[in-house]
Amino acid sequence: MQVYDANFLEALRAELAGKVVPHYIDGAFVESASGETFETLDPSSNRPLARVARGRAEEVDRAVRAARKAFDEGPWPRMPARERRRYLERVAELIEAHADELAALECLDTGQVLRIIRGGQVPRAAANFRFYAEKAEAAFDGRSFPVDDRFLYYTFRVPVGVAGLITPWNTPLMLATWKLAPCLAAGNTCVLKPAEWSPLSAWMLARIFAEADLPPGVVNVVQGFGEEAGAPLVAHPGVQLISFTGETTTGKIIMRTGAETLKRYSFELGGKSPALVFADAELERAVDGVVFQIFSLNGERCTANSRLLVERSIYPEFVERVAERARRIRVGHPLDPEAEVGPLIHPEHLARVEAFVEEAKREGARVLAGGHRVGEEGNYYAPTVLEVRPGMRIEQEEVFGPVLVAMPFEDEEEAVRIANSVRYGLAAYVWTRDVARAHRLARRIEAGMVWINSHNVRHLPTPFGGMKESGIGREGGEYSFGFYTEEKSVMVPLTDHPIPKFGKEEG
Ligand code: NAD
Repeated sequence: MQVYDANFLEALRAELAGKVVPHYIDGAFVESASGETFETLDPSSNRPLARVARGRAEEVDRAVRAARKAFDEGPWPRMPARERRRYLERVAELIEAHADELAALECLDTGQVLRIIRGGQVPRAAANFRFYAEKAEAAFDGRSFPVDDRFLYYTFRVPVGVAGLITPWNTPLMLATWKLAPCLAAGNTCVLKPAEWSPLSAWMLARIFAEADLPPGVVNVVQGFGEEAGAPLVAHPGVQLISFTGETTTGKIIMRTGAETLKRYSFELGGKSPALVFADAELERAVDGVVFQIFSLNGERCTANSRLLVERSIYPEFVERVAERARRIRVGHPLDPEAEVGPLIHPEHLARVEAFVEEAKREGARVLAGGHRVGEEGNYYAPTVLEVRPGMRIEQEEVFGPVLVAMPFEDEEEAVRIANSVRYGLAAYVWTRDVARAHRLARRIEAGMVWINSHNVRHLPTPFGGMKESGIGREGGEYSFGFYTEEKSVMVPLTDHPIPKFGKEEG
């Protein structure tokens, strides 16, 4: 792993300081028609990192028209799937070739630490493209229904059209590629609207698409704020699909905005996922898993196990072991290869996380670790463990920061009741050596994904998504093609089957 020295950083900062990060529309890097820009901040200092073109309805309209034209008239949906496959492979190679630069930009822009971004997220971005490159030739496969000797039905798939891809700020590179790769493999064209707090990796991706010679208009990137650029994208009649990852409340707004033009949605929304630890679990591994799954990615992680439920007989000891580890976590600069947790994305988000914890303290939460800012500069917040009661606001709502709330449970029934008592249902983690109980809980806990004796280890062919207010639909593997394609049904008679003869009968 490359370690970034001060000179490298200064050079990167200087390069960013002198320019406006542009949109990418119809194969060209352009600024907004109005010339408006906004600032993206470096979360480690809150100093401006770059100025970014501020897109509005006008830029969105241009981007959608370009995507529409590329879909209706361009080569992309018409070329043999194996050619699209080669483009996607090329994008994966370019992500790998630019991995150090991509990682540095992503760390500086999001505050996520190098070991996670360079070690995990950037390789995963390339893997997303490689995975869907391999799947490109199977994207349109269908089923056959050989009904009997008289009828055959079969299905096949076609691309849908133009997709609007809207991503959040926590892991923008990985999430953009997670949407772009299947969208493109299935022959669609798209407009990507990255989050305004972390816009830089989408610009790097656009440069990679340009370098890979993707036909103009196939991928467009419009930078800007949710209400100004996201909303017009959702409302645009030229867009059929909206793949959105972000907050549940935003998802509800988007659903209303897209109702007039009847969009098809894939929603990956918020979470408040539980980890259930039983007394018979392998406790040292459970500590590792729980600590990693809340504090990795600064706790700004949709599948974070932000609620820790522990069987009462081991509760005091187990929670103290978790708190002890939390106190020892290395909080540091995103580009410090030793750092495990970096600064939160934005001063507003830091204030929100802090407000959650302060309110919980007032309501009687006991602070077992952290519970305060770190340092004078930047948005650093200490890894925090709180003992709370079920039903408190901090136990019910997504904090999206390095804050774990802990509660004891008496038995399996109570554990399930607490686990299911939130409006979210994204992920769950069960730690037990009792095989039957583990599988029973996998069924009973209301979550789209359950990991047993494991942190969130992903396998790309499996479905990713949530229940309840954590989302609609599943992405991943061939599940993404269910969203990014239309399945058509064709019926063929194999004989001269009887057809009713209206108007032929004698009166
Ligand atoms: P957010 O909902 O505030 O913003 C997400 C994106 O939506 C941004 O690009 C934003 O500009 C855009 N947006 C905002 N208002 C819009 C509108 N009216 N119309 C169209 N677009 C609009 O979310 P965030 O704060 O960026 O991200 C954090 C949230 O994302 C958390 O709730 C987290 O759980 C969730 N998340 C979910 C997953 C998952 O897979 N389930 C993954 C990562 C993050």
